[in-house]
Amino acid sequence: MNNKEMINEFANKFIVVEGNKLIFKSDYGEFEKWISELLSQQKQEFKKLVGQALTNCHDCGVKPGEIHEEGCDVERCSVCGGQRLQCGCEGYDSYYAKWTGIWPGAAEADYLGVDLNEFSRRFSQIFFKK
Ligand SMILES: [Zn+2]
Ligand SMILES: [Zn+2]
Repeated sequence: MNNKEMINEFANKFIVVEGNKLIFKSDYGEFEKWISELLSQQKQEFKKLVGQALTNCHDCGVKPGEIHEEGCDVERCSVCGGQRLQCGCEGYDSYYAKWTGIWPGAAEADYLGVDLNEFSRRFSQIFFKK
């Protein structure tokens, strides 16, 4: 429900016009019920949006914004741009390679209009190296 619909529904349910006056026609309990239902609907909408976009790491299970667990096969290396599990690069930055909530490169590949395989071949050096 957008703001305008919300205002219309509020007016229909709770406002009565008498002469040139707007009068709140309902008791406060009903109004409170209406507003709390509205809020819980909006929370569910928000959850749906965020829940779809961001997930925990598919391998190690950390939350968006957290550093991958040791040995995670999703983590990229900030030194060589490859899969961290496969390389032994020294001085890589685990914070730079943290889990964002989206598969590494998926958003960039989408933006560039290539699939993930092509992205890894051509662009992982550019995007994953620090
Ligand atoms: Zn991970
Ligand atoms: Zn590496």
